[in-house]
Amino acid sequence: MVTAAHRMMPPMEYVRLHDEAAGLDGVIAIHSTARGPAAGGCRLWTYPDAGAAMADAFRLAEGMSYKNAMAELPFGGGKAVLRRPEGDFDRRALFEAFGAAVERLDGRYVTAEDVGTSVADMEFVASRTQHVAGRSARPGFAGGDPSPWTALGVFEAMKAAVRFRFNSSLSGVTVAVQGVGSVGGALCRLLAEAGAKLVIADIDAARCENLAAELGASMAAIDAVAQADAEVFAPCALGGALTGASVSAMKARLVCGAANNQLGDTLAAPLLLERGIAYAPDYVVNAGGIINVSAEYLGETTQQVQERVLKIGPRTAAILEEAAQRGLAPSVVADRMAEDLMRGPVAEPA
Ligand code: NAD
Repeated sequence: MVTAAHRMMPPMEYVRLHDEAAGLDGVIAIHSTARGPAAGGCRLWTYPDAGAAMADAFRLAEGMSYKNAMAELPFGGGKAVLRRPEGDFDRRALFEAFGAAVERLDGRYVTAEDVGTSVADMEFVASRTQHVAGRSARPGFAGGDPSPWTALGVFEAMKAAVRFRFNSSLSGVTVAVQGVGSVGGALCRLLAEAGAKLVIADIDAARCENLAAELGASMAAIDAVAQADAEVFAPCALGGALTGASVSAMKARLVCGAANNQLGDTLAAPLLLERGIAYAPDYVVNAGGIINVSAEYLGETTQQVQERVLKIGPRTAAILEEAAQRGLAPSVVADRMAEDLMRGPVAEPA
């Protein structure tokens, strides 16, 4: 995955985490606190060495600064990356030690779930610090699984982007969805309800077949879904779906999906622009999850989350329109808007 050359890169502040007895080995990276505490999840993953974990943390923390600023949240960007111990390990000990490290930062960093961590892990973290979200939800208040909010944000973004690109509603539009897990699956249900036609693919064949049967969707091969006969391509699996090769062969005229870090190489963004394929930038579109997490941390209601998630549609349309008017890649327009928001005063979240 690439960091775009035009992005500003302040020096990264970081704290190395090491507690052998607890199996803790990792890093907390703080990219920006200009808008508020650095917020971003805690990833538990297997890395070949400490350097690889650190590089991932830096890249992810930077991404969180852009995503949080763009969603107009009162948070900067940070991320924790922990190296998964080999074999069996004591999750309670590891996440309690991690929670103690978060507490030592005294609120400069707020953690939550990410790849490889769960609500139960965040409850262990919460026994050592209050600077944690992604815990069990209380009725009426924000919290719990962020995926439905992420799916709603992507859906709203897609509605607005389809209106911009094809001047139509979603009814009758064919959307190719790569990855039908928590977010992709929920997105497909919303799209089916709105009358869109679906082409889906997932490496989990049973999951894909079940959803296809439920929604009457067609299925595509894993390596063919990005080139499917569809108006819209929605990457909802892992990062890096958009590369020089995949964009060159793409039939869709719009890309809008949930996956993080969709631009997989430096050719993807210019090629999308050259081929007239509108690209709704990933971190603008998939902010529903962090909106829910941030609201949980601030003690806000699900109503406030919904209002903020519904703004993702008009925000996506504004970025696509400005990019088209100025002949720029939407990813570049979005980054500049986010950088302005990182510098400017922070309004109370609406
Ligand atoms: P998930 O693990 O529930 O679903 C991912 C799905 O993609 C799985 O069904 C998996 O089998 C499938 N998959 C993996 N590789 C594939 C491939 N090459 N081709 C087709 N399918 C493949 O994850 P999720 O929570 O739905 O997240 C999906 C994406 O959205 C990720 O990139 C994630 O970082 C991003 N995202 C998620 C959230 C959230 O709230 N969960 C928020 C922001 C961004």
